[in-house]
This record gives sequence, structure tokens and C-alpha cells, in this order.
Amino acid sequence: MARDYPRPRIVISRCIEFDPCRYDGSKIPSPTVARLKSYADCIPVCPEVEIGLGIPRATVRIVRMDGVDHLIQPATGRDVTGEMTGFATRFLDELPPVDGFILKGGSPTSGASGVRVYPSAEKSQAIERTAGFFAREVLKRFPGLPIEDELRLNNARIRDHFLTGIFTLAGYRAIENLQDREALVQFHAANKFLLMACHQQLMREMGRLVASRAKTGPEELYIQYRRMLCAALEQVPRYTNNINVLQHIMGYFANLVSGEEKTYCLRLIDRYKAGHATLAEPRDLLRSWVIRFQEPSLLNQTFFAPYPVELTEMPEEAMDRGRDMWKGRKGPADQQETRQK
Ligand code: SF4
Repeated sequence: MARDYPRPRIVISRCIEFDPCRYDGSKIPSPTVARLKSYADCIPVCPEVEIGLGIPRATVRIVRMDGVDHLIQPATGRDVTGEMTGFATRFLDELPPVDGFILKGGSPTSGASGVRVYPSAEKSQAIERTAGFFAREVLKRFPGLPIEDELRLNNARIRDHFLTGIFTLAGYRAIENLQDREALVQFHAANKFLLMACHQQLMREMGRLVASRAKTGPEELYIQYRRMLCAALEQVPRYTNNINVLQHIMGYFANLVSGEEKTYCLRLIDRYKAGHATLAEPRDLLRSWVIRFQEPSLLNQTFFAPYPVELTEMPEEAMDRGRDMWKGRKGPADQQETRQK
């Protein structure tokens, strides 16, 4: 059941874990990006350095003048709107197909949302929050791709959703180049339960498209499937959808496992439903049954591990392993001795 994962190709703000290119010459740490570097092909980019603002540099801000946003460097009075939009256009025009973006949150250039807009270059209160100048172009051109900022990726659910998206799309990009209808059948079959968890209705529509594949030209077939795949992956799986998938998978083993094993599995699903367990707990148990019984239609399901396990955040218990947490703590005999003194 071990998988060979495709390598997602992602664009990343260069100041996140790559180079110290922020306005003050610093670099942003991100545990997710640090780990992802070994499993993805990264394209780092710093638009402000690319347009020649240098390191270190005076900060820029978005200033709205007569209803139009400008990228201004208040300390020098420079308006770099034209340079920035020109660079974004050139860079994105030349970009090879990618599976997602990780952008620096809050930056007037790279931030995908929540970036402050000011009424003037002078000291003033923000009047709105929006996307940075480079990020705007990214959002406009790649509406279906996973786009996140590095801070949001510290949240386990957001990170899981993002990683699932980029690894699934990387797998699709690999077969898209082949334009082979049968490769699409296999891709859809392997992602069936993952897609069911994301969006059951779209999963069915995609299944119908694949089933009637002979009626559509390969190019159009792949375009239509990609459109639906992106829309399905955009949906964050609801826990009720995940439970539905877990129960569905459990049904494969109704006559194979003991009553006690079924009860234990149902208890794990209930704990997940109540918010007392993660999805991984019932899912890993079911995965062990898949391996034990070599269930052919489940062996290659991406639902069980949509991305390499090494990208999963270590639980606290595992991170503390090897450290003596009790070192230096007084035992009962020592405490008694202390009291008697
Ligand atoms: S946020 Fe964007 S423009 Fe600013 S330093 Fe990072 S990569 Fe460069």
C-alpha cells in the first residue's frame, strides 16, 4: 500500500525559508515549507527584489488614490505599481504548470488576503483589507489552485487541505500530459473516496464523465475533468462526509472482521464524530484491514494517505520521545526527606 507520491510544483514567496530577502533582510521560518522542500519542486520568487527594490529596502504599502490602488514606497515617494504589475505578468506568463502557491501573508506585494489599504502614503489608518499586488494576479489567473499564506498553514486542518490539494493535482498533472483516457480511469478510481469526502455530487459527475470517456476528445475530457477536480478539492471535507466514507469503507469488511473489531472501529468513528479523535485514528485502523485482507479496490485509495506521512505534524507525544521529562523532578522519597528537614 506504499505509494510513490508525485512531486507538486509550487510557487513560494522567497522570504519563506529560502532567502533573507525581506525589507529588513530577514527570512521567515515555516515548518511546513521546511519539510515540503524535500517533497516538492519549489519555485521561490521575491517580486520586490525582482523589480530592483534591493535588500534592505524601505517598505511599500498599498495606497488608494481616486479609487485606484497604487504600490507606493512612502520613504522615497516612488510609485512602483507599473513595475510590479509588469513583473507579475511576465513571471506568471512564463511559469510552467504549477499545483499551488504559498505566499507571505500580510505583504502588500505577496499577501493573498488581509493586506491593508491606506488612503495616503502618510501615516494613516487602513481603510480596507485586500490582496497584495503580485497575489492579485495569482488569484486572478489560478482561481482553482490551492493558494495559502504561510501562517494559515500552521493550522492542522488548513495544512491538511492544502497538502491534499497540491499532491492530488500533481498526480493529475502527471497524467494530463499523457492525455490517455485509461490513465484517467485509474486516477479517478484511486481518488474515489478522497473525492467522495470532498464533494460527493462532483465525484459522481466526474465518474459519469470518465464512464462516457469515449464520447469526448482526450483534450476536452481532461479539461472538463480538471475543472471538476479543482472545484471538488476546493471544498474542505466536512466531518460528516469523512464519516460517510469511513462507514462506506467499513462495509467492505462486514463479513471479514470479528464483531469485537467492528465495535472497536465504530467506537473510533464515534470518537471522531464527537471531536475526541482525529480522522487518522479510524482511517488508520481501516487501512490496516485493507492491508490484512488485500482488498483490491481499496489498496490504492489516496483517501488513506493523500500526501507523504513525513509532512504530517508530529504529535507532541512523539516529539518528546527521547527526552527524560521527569529528570530533575523529586521522587516521593526525596519529597518526604525535604518535608522532614
Ligand atoms: S513578502 Fe514577497 S515581496 Fe516581500 S520579501 Fe517576501 S517574497 Fe519578497
